[in-house]
Amino acid sequence: MNREDFAILNEQVYGKPLVYFDNAATTQKPQQVINAMVYAYTHFNANIHRGVHHLSQVATAKHEEAREYVATFLGAASAKEIIFTKGTTDSLNMLAFSFGEACIHEGDEIIVSQLEHHSNIVPWQMLCERKKAVLRVIPLRDNQTLDIEAYKALLSDKTKLVSVAHVSNVLGIINPVKEIIQIAHEKGIPVAIDGAQAAPHLTVNLRDLDCDFFVCSAHKMYGPTGLGILYGKEKWLNILPPAEGGGEMIEHVRFEKTTYNVLPYKFEAGTPNFIGSYVFGEALHYIEKIGREKIEKAETELCEYAEQQLKQLKEVKIYAEGQKKAGAISFNVYHNGKLIHPFDIGTLLDRQGIAVRTGHHCAEPLIDYLGVPGTVRISFALYNTKEEIDVFLNALKKAIMMLE
Ligand code: PLP
Repeated sequence: MNREDFAILNEQVYGKPLVYFDNAATTQKPQQVINAMVYAYTHFNANIHRGVHHLSQVATAKHEEAREYVATFLGAASAKEIIFTKGTTDSLNMLAFSFGEACIHEGDEIIVSQLEHHSNIVPWQMLCERKKAVLRVIPLRDNQTLDIEAYKALLSDKTKLVSVAHVSNVLGIINPVKEIIQIAHEKGIPVAIDGAQAAPHLTVNLRDLDCDFFVCSAHKMYGPTGLGILYGKEKWLNILPPAEGGGEMIEHVRFEKTTYNVLPYKFEAGTPNFIGSYVFGEALHYIEKIGREKIEKAETELCEYAEQQLKQLKEVKIYAEGQKKAGAISFNVYHNGKLIHPFDIGTLLDRQGIAVRTGHHCAEPLIDYLGVPGTVRISFALYNTKEEIDVFLNALKKAIMMLE
């Protein structure tokens, strides 16, 4: 749908029409979003907050309107709970630092899962090292879904935070985050959700989810690079210290003592990406105009169709086969019982104009668990079609034949 808004989809790669199936890495931008960036720099580029002049006031209003809209889009209780960051990775690092400073002590435990992106592992590892805390890992069942019974058994008085992905960036599966949150909350434990792969595909409602923290990236949602969201319940953000110091995040600076700004500015040191926030707001309006339910339905159909077709190929092994997926499928190709390196498959597909991602997808612990050097991942966005999946399947069959 709406393919005409994405001029890049008319590009040719090695003389073949581009089939872009690398949307989990980043989505393409519709012309409306590209225009919004040009509009912002053309009409209201001025540093925001504290500016007495007109242009600064316009830029400030646009930035804060965007924050309000992000809050509405994600179902947050208030715009004060929406912090603009550089992206999901930045959000998780900030959270790990702030939460760690306030709430983590020697011997405390933080729980992540086996299928996390490195962004939801390494900041917590660094925190554990700093505070002599312990990282615990929810294992997977044989069908590559999270083992909820094992998760329950990991929770204890020592558990101070659970941080898990809503949607796996490798397997595409949707984790039962609502259940995970409820289970933790019954024991008074807060939960952070890595929503980088959920926010682009599912209708996320933070009040309904009831998570304590949530993070996502604008560039995976048809928006600009260099912008992300850190959501935190107000009660948490009020007690956490800022992760970074500088302008913007202060109330008063004295050499004796500095006092901090109110929410959300306490967490936004320096000049924020006020052009990016406006452009992201326009990207979210674009999504809403099409309709999130319509997008989710179309992408689910694409996933189901692709999986069904891939299953017909005896050389292909699909991971988390049969599980409901949001936007991504991982697989490998076996020839004469031997795994063909995903890079080779990716290269053969690329020569036919098809952009897929291969390798560990920044989730090495999961890839190690699967016991492979990597996977081939196809991932969809609103503009992809069944016809493109057919082109991809033909290209994959051709690649497999070339291995004969
Ligand atoms: N978490 C998940 C589940 C992701 O898929 C990604 C990116 O692929 C990230 C975190 C990191 O996002 P970013 O690189 O935008 O910071």
